[in-house]
Amino acid sequence: MKPPRCFLCGAWIPQDKVDEYGMGDDQGIIEFKKTKKDLEWDKKHFPEQAPYAEWFCAVHYPRAKSLSKHTTRDAIDILTAEFGLS
Ligand SMILES: [Zn+2]
Repeated sequence: MKPPRCFLCGAWIPQDKVDEYGMGDDQGIIEFKKTKKDLEWDKKHFPEQAPYAEWFCAVHYPRAKSLSKHTTRDAIDILTAEFGLS
C-alpha cells in the first residue's frame, strides 16, 4: 500500500481512523473512476498500489470524495487547481 499520506498536503492519516483497507469515514483512501488502463492493471496486479486510488486527509477527503466519479487524472487536476500541491 502507498504510505498513508494525503495526496495533496502530505499529512499522515492516523491508522486508527481507517480500516485495514485504508477506508475511513472522513479520511482515507478514495478510489476514482477506473480507466480502461486501470481495468487492465487490475487483472495483473494486487490492488495495494492501485493507480486509481489515493490517500486524503480529513481536510481534503470530502472534496476528493465528491470527485470519485471522475478518473484519477481528472480528479487530481481539479483538486490541484483548487488546493494546490504542497
Ligand atoms: Zn490533505
